[in-house]
Amino acid sequence: MVQSASRQDPRLVVLGSGTGVPVGGRRPAGHLVLYAGRGLLLDLGPGAWHAASRYVRFQRIDYVLLSHPHLDHCLDTLTLLFTMSLVPRQRPGPTVMASRETLRQVEHWVRSTPGLSMDLVPIRPLNAGERVSLWDGVELTTGAVAHVAGSLAYRIDFPDGASLTYSGDTTWCLTLVQLAYRTTVLLLECAHRHPSSPHLWPESAAVLARWAEAEQTLLTHFYPDALTPAFRQQCRRFFSTPFVLTRDGATYPIRSRPTAIEPSSRVGEQVGR
Ligand SMILES: [Zn+2]
Ligand SMILES: [Zn+2]
Repeated sequence: MVQSASRQDPRLVVLGSGTGVPVGGRRPAGHLVLYAGRGLLLDLGPGAWHAASRYVRFQRIDYVLLSHPHLDHCLDTLTLLFTMSLVPRQRPGPTVMASRETLRQVEHWVRSTPGLSMDLVPIRPLNAGERVSLWDGVELTTGAVAHVAGSLAYRIDFPDGASLTYSGDTTWCLTLVQLAYRTTVLLLECAHRHPSSPHLWPESAAVLARWAEAEQTLLTHFYPDALTPAFRQQCRRFFSTPFVLTRDGATYPIRSRPTAIEPSSRVGEQVGR
């Protein structure tokens, strides 16, 4: 828990900073946004749904935003639907939001799984460039990114001026720079040590963060070659703005002003300047 921040303040918990390749105990993609006692999930890779319950009751998770149809980002949507099929429900489960391409892939998995149905939760298809109200005064904006068909990045703006922009998976693209422009927290994939389409690497991630004028950058989604001292050296070399290599279980405040990054209870590895 963040000791200096109120429970009302937005914060981010990294549930999974890894990928589909098991390494270092890092789960596939999953990130939890907590705000005023409610929860929102950015991607739902394997294990993320149950991991989130350590920080918030699942009944208080209002939204699940899926970035793209790869399994390491959305397979646990099936686990979420299974949960909804097991528990008595006084209210609808979390609204699952994603591009039509991503929803089509999830629906394909769901159709072949006995007992599951997309009707177990509200579904909200999203287009690129769309703006949607989440909680009171909290706005979501979507942007297309360069990974696979239907890949979306998400920006969440809070009433006090704080904002979180999540890249999902992408390689270098100007649409992400535009979406993330002057965001206070940029949650950015940096999957590999060297250029590897369709992903980012330290140099491209650093340029993207600088062009976006992001106040803080949290790097995530590390393949094995990104979990090396050489990768950390490259990050130090190329980043001219504050950055952190995130770690599963670390919590980061989403602040409106530029301040030092203070990961709390289980501290992420800080290598920023
Ligand atoms: Zn992907
Ligand atoms: Zn991925």
